[in-house]
Amino acid sequence: MTSLDLGTVILLHKTSLLAGSGTLLLLWFRVDRPPAVAMIASAFATLAIGALLAGLGEHNLIPPTLWRDTSIALGVCAYTLLCLGTRRLDRRVGALCWAFLLTPLMLGVGLLTSVFADDVFRALIFHGTSAAGSLFAGLGLLTNRRSEPLPSRMPLAASFLTCAALYGGQMPLLALGLATPDTISIVFAATMMLNFAIAALVVSFVRERREELYRRSSLTDALTGTLNRQGFRVLVPSTIPAGGALALFDLDLFKQINDRYGHPAGDHVLITFARLLERFVGEGEIPARIGGEEFVLYIPPGRTEHALRLAEEIRLALSTQQIRWKGETIIVSTSVGLAISDGAGTASRTALFAQADKALYLAKELGRNRVATASDVAQAGASMDAPPVCTLAA
Ligand code: GH3
Ligand code: MG
Ligand code: MG
Repeated sequence: MTSLDLGTVILLHKTSLLAGSGTLLLLWFRVDRPPAVAMIASAFATLAIGALLAGLGEHNLIPPTLWRDTSIALGVCAYTLLCLGTRRLDRRVGALCWAFLLTPLMLGVGLLTSVFADDVFRALIFHGTSAAGSLFAGLGLLTNRRSEPLPSRMPLAASFLTCAALYGGQMPLLALGLATPDTISIVFAATMMLNFAIAALVVSFVRERREELYRRSSLTDALTGTLNRQGFRVLVPSTIPAGGALALFDLDLFKQINDRYGHPAGDHVLITFARLLERFVGEGEIPARIGGEEFVLYIPPGRTEHALRLAEEIRLALSTQQIRWKGETIIVSTSVGLAISDGAGTASRTALFAQADKALYLAKELGRNRVATASDVAQAGASMDAPPVCTLAA
C-alpha cells in the first residue's frame, strides 16, 4: 500500500491551489471577466501564498513574525473571497463586504497578542476558518437550486460541504492532540482533489449558465419576449392530442398602423398584444410570435369549448383595449383561426396549423376582428386553395 508523505502532499496541495487559480483566471479572461470568478481565483491564489509562507516558516527560512500572523490573516482573507465570490457567482449580492474587515482584525489580534504563536491554536484557527468558509459557500449554493438547477450546482455544493466536513472533522483531533501526520496527510490529499474539482465545477457552472442563456435567447422573440417560432416548435408537441387546439392570431390591417403612427408604434402594439396574450394563458397553454404580426397559442386538451371561449376573449380584449402611444390612442383588432385536434387526421402539429390558417383566412374574408374555426371553413365551403396567411415549417 502506498503511504502519503506529508511534505509531498502539502506541496501538491499548494499546486492544486495554483492550478485552480490559473484555471479560473483563464476562464475570467475568456468569459466577460465576471467579478465572481476573479474573487474565487484570488481566493485560491491567496490560500496558496499563505500556504507558501507557512511552509517557508516551518522550515525556518523566514522569521516567525513574518509568517505566523500573516498566513492566518491570508487564510481568513481567502475564505472571505471564496464565500463572497460564490455568493456572487450565484447572483446573491448582499451587504456582506464587512466580512473583509475580519482580515485586518485577525492580523491585528495576531500582532498585538501573539496568540498564533501556539502551533495547535494556529492550526485550529486555520481549520475552523476553512470549515466555516467551505460550509457557508456550500450551503449558499443550495439556496438557488430550484430557481437555477444547473447540472454542476449540486456537485459544487457537495465539494464545498465535503471540504467543510474534512476540515471540521480534523479539529477535535487537533484539539485533543490526536492528529498525526497520517490524518493531516489524508485531509490535505482529499482537499487537494476537491480543489481541482471546485475549480473545474466553477468553470462548468459559468459555461452551463451561458449555454442556458443562449438556448433561451434562441427560443425567444427579441421584441416581445415571448417564444419565437423555434421556441414554439421545441415546446409544443409535434402530435397534438385529441382536444388540443391551435389558435392563430393575425393583427388586422397592421400595415396601416405602421404607416399612420410609425414603426416604433407598431412595435409597441406588438409588445402590448404579447402581454395581453400572457395575461390570458393558463396552465400548459403556450403563446408564441411566429412572424411579423402573427401569433399562435397552443391550448392543451381541456374543457369542451374552452379553446373557442379563450380565443374569443382574447380577440374581444384586444379590440376594446385603448393602446396609448405618444398622446394618441391606437385601436387594433385581431382575426383568429382556431383548429381543434381530433386526435387522428389533424393530430400532427403541422396539419392542425394548416387548418387553423385556413380558418384565419376565412376570418379575414368575413371582415376581420372575428374568430373562425376549422368547422366554419367546412360549412362555408371555403376554397381549399386559399393562400396561407401563416405558415409553419414542420
Ligand atoms: P391583414 O389584416 O390582412 O393581416 O393586413 P395587415 O396589414 O396586417 O397585413 P400585411 O401582411 O399587409 O402587413 C403586415 C405588416 O406587419 C407589414 C410589416 O411591415 C409589419 N411588420 C412585420 N413585422 C413587424 C415588426 O416587427 N414591427 C412592426 N412595427 N411592424 C412589423
Ligand atoms: Mg400577417
Ligand atoms: Mg395582419
